[in-house]
Amino acid sequence: MTAKIQKLDEKVINQIAAGEVVERPASVIKELLENAIDAGATQVTIELEQGGKTLIKVIDNGSGVTEDQIALTIERHATSKIRNLHDLETDTTLGFRGEALASISSVSDFEFASYPESQNSGYAIDSNGEIQIKAMPYGTQVTVKHLFYNTPAREKFLKTDSTEYKNCLEIIESYCLSYPEVNFALSHNSRQVFNYQATDRKSRVTQVLGQDFASKLLPVHYEGQELSIEGFVGLPELAKSKAYSQYFLVNGRQIKAHYFTHAVQKAYETRIFPNEKIPFILWINIAPADVDMNVHPRKEEARFHYQSMVYAKILKAVRHTLGQNTLTPEIKLQQPSVESFLPSQPTLTNNPSTPQHRSSYKPSKSESKAAFDLFKPEFSDRTKQSLTEHRPVEPQIKVTELNLKPLSQIDNSYILCLSPEGLTIIDQHAAHERVLYAKFKAEAKLKKPSSQKLLVPIQIELSNSEKELLLENAQVLESIGFDIEEFGGQTISIQSMPSKFKQSEVEDTIRGLVDDLKSGDFDSLEAREEVVINYAACRGAIKFGQPLTMDEIYALIAEMEQTEGIYSCPHGRPTMIKLTYNDLEKQFKRKK
Ligand code: ADP
Ligand code: MG
Repeated sequence: MTAKIQKLDEKVINQIAAGEVVERPASVIKELLENAIDAGATQVTIELEQGGKTLIKVIDNGSGVTEDQIALTIERHATSKIRNLHDLETDTTLGFRGEALASISSVSDFEFASYPESQNSGYAIDSNGEIQIKAMPYGTQVTVKHLFYNTPAREKFLKTDSTEYKNCLEIIESYCLSYPEVNFALSHNSRQVFNYQATDRKSRVTQVLGQDFASKLLPVHYEGQELSIEGFVGLPELAKSKAYSQYFLVNGRQIKAHYFTHAVQKAYETRIFPNEKIPFILWINIAPADVDMNVHPRKEEARFHYQSMVYAKILKAVRHTLGQNTLTPEIKLQQPSVESFLPSQPTLTNNPSTPQHRSSYKPSKSESKAAFDLFKPEFSDRTKQSLTEHRPVEPQIKVTELNLKPLSQIDNSYILCLSPEGLTIIDQHAAHERVLYAKFKAEAKLKKPSSQKLLVPIQIELSNSEKELLLENAQVLESIGFDIEEFGGQTISIQSMPSKFKQSEVEDTIRGLVDDLKSGDFDSLEAREEVVINYAACRGAIKFGQPLTMDEIYALIAEMEQTEGIYSCPHGRPTMIKLTYNDLEKQFKRKK
């Protein structure tokens, strides 16, 4: 039997079309924000529940829609923004396809309510097209509840609340940056996340990305006939291996443009490592006719008619900025820290004070003698004593016997040890990293971190999304000994830190952690725990190039002996290598 051809029902058409426009809560927000801005709003309030999965509400004070037009808002291909193809060339609005609301309303529990000033009251229309009077302030309120509730196949693809929320925030922040002249307020799960007042570009960058970040930006300015470029690029010290905060805001819309990103990166050639990414926020204004926004269903990409000209202008503008500014990074001297990262032990009396550069370190006579004294076939009494004194007896932990007798530290980075088969060389950073990794893992599992309270809490200013991300992960951080509290504004306050940490490491560690958490979709708690523990272990570990006293070396080996998997660091690199007598005999050609 041949199947009968039938025209699809309007609702089904919209649901299918929604596949292109509406991918996740963040794409709904993008469309609603664009509509609010197109309506000339100066105040936009966004309310989210559960990462936008159960509620997205966007309230604006824009021009609104009159009652006689309200039914058209959820009609497909109905728009107030263009009339013909020619309009598309001169269009300066963000929307133009007239399909967003039709799509969104077909896949959610939806309400569009509007109260233009010309009317006596507000009206609301729901997904079924029913219209009712609504008490509300002037402007428009769009409510999207339970996205994809009627398309379970698509609902299944939604990620965890925190991942969806992260995506929503990214979009919202890009519009906050694009439109500093608009007030934006956001709340998530009834908690206010931010409330940005209208301001200039630089201040909006500070509001969104934080004072510390904004203070490391250089201004870019280019004014030409064809286009203008305005904005900021980061000091080379902001370069990182992962791309972050790279914004092209073309005629008020954020677009992805790898080609132009390349232009910015090129301007930094030799100033940063080739694989490093530099943050930038560039507002580009160009005649609407010279750019085609109609190339991507969600308008995330654009086609420029004079691509290479725009590339050249960006390169020129950024190069000019870099040429005009001093780029020497500011070195923050850290106070020499008294507390040690290892179990406390009396240090050798005439031990040199901690040198600042690895090349300036020379072992003291007493250290050399201590090393010489150890050159015996058995562990010395002192070693035995140090091992028993400083290794808390924890019978459940298996003690390997590494059988190592430390001789000396070389190049402030490696520990040379005598073993029954020859020489063993320990990479001090890799080994300690594994020790801390195992320790944090065990503490997180038992939920018993050993932490130390800070006399003066450390305050760190972050961007709003970074702060949110950190607070979301506060529990994971707490499980390894970081106690983090909200401090108001964009600041968080660290109340305590893992006992193995140095105070001077805390800020960098937290910032680095935020970067790592930002860079991936860590849906499960375990995945996030792994990121946090990995990072904290790396940052808290003894540095490569850090001078150690013999006592510190003993303590490290004692800790290594209690650590499972000590032969490799958490990234899989070896923590020690051996040079056996057998190898030596071969090398000296005593033996084949
Ligand atoms: P488009 O933005 O491409 O026109 P949409 O489906 O997003 O398509 O919106 C349809 C129409 O509804 C718009 O053209 C506009 O007239 C009206 N509209 C939508 N949102 C708002 C709003 N927040 N304020 C005023 N009018 C709106
Ligand atoms: Mg629209």
